[in-house]
Amino acid sequence: PAPTLAVVGRPNVGKSTLVNRLIGRREAVVQDVPGVTRDRVSHDALWRGRRFTVVDTGGWDPMASGLQAEVTAQAERAMQTSDAVLVVVDASVGATETEDAIAKVLRRSKRPVILAVNKVDDERAEADAAALWSLGLGEPIAVSGLHGRGSGDLLDAVLEAL
Ligand code: GDP
Ligand code: MG
Repeated sequence: PAPTLAVVGRPNVGKSTLVNRLIGRREAVVQDVPGVTRDRVSHDALWRGRRFTVVDTGGWDPMASGLQAEVTAQAERAMQTSDAVLVVVDASVGATETEDAIAKVLRRSKRPVILAVNKVDDERAEADAAALWSLGLGEPIAVSGLHGRGSGDLLDAVLEAL
């Protein structure tokens, strides 16, 4: 079977928008309502002749309760059953304590991690992306899921990790 990439991060950072870039289609549900992707959803992707599966997840919030806690549990399961994990952070927000918590779980998981800093829509936001080296998850890759900026570099990094 094709290797699997789990896409995780807080609600509304742009995971589903980025997933659509990675798969080159519009299948993942993008909405302004935080945490709208409740279930994990698998999509086939192809880049430079290599197939892989992208698993979109709902927003990860370790402090959550109720439905949001269920969504978080699903994201953790997706992460634990994948070959590599793509963590998405919102450049305009930066690292919150949720990102710190996610980073801790990921370092323990021993999974290869790719760090995408999303919503870098223009050059000015590049500095916000560089600040995310502090998470200790390797090089922050600046992308804009909305405009497609950086998506080739991101896909190359994904292939290297899988
Ligand atoms: P998810 O909850 O992490 O899956 O986030 P979504 O993909 O549903 O996106 C949440 C909101 O962020 C939507 O309004 C998107 O249009 C917006 N968004 C996603 N990517 C970008 C981006 O690169 N730049 C900007 N400016 N907005 C984005
Ligand atoms: Mg989503």
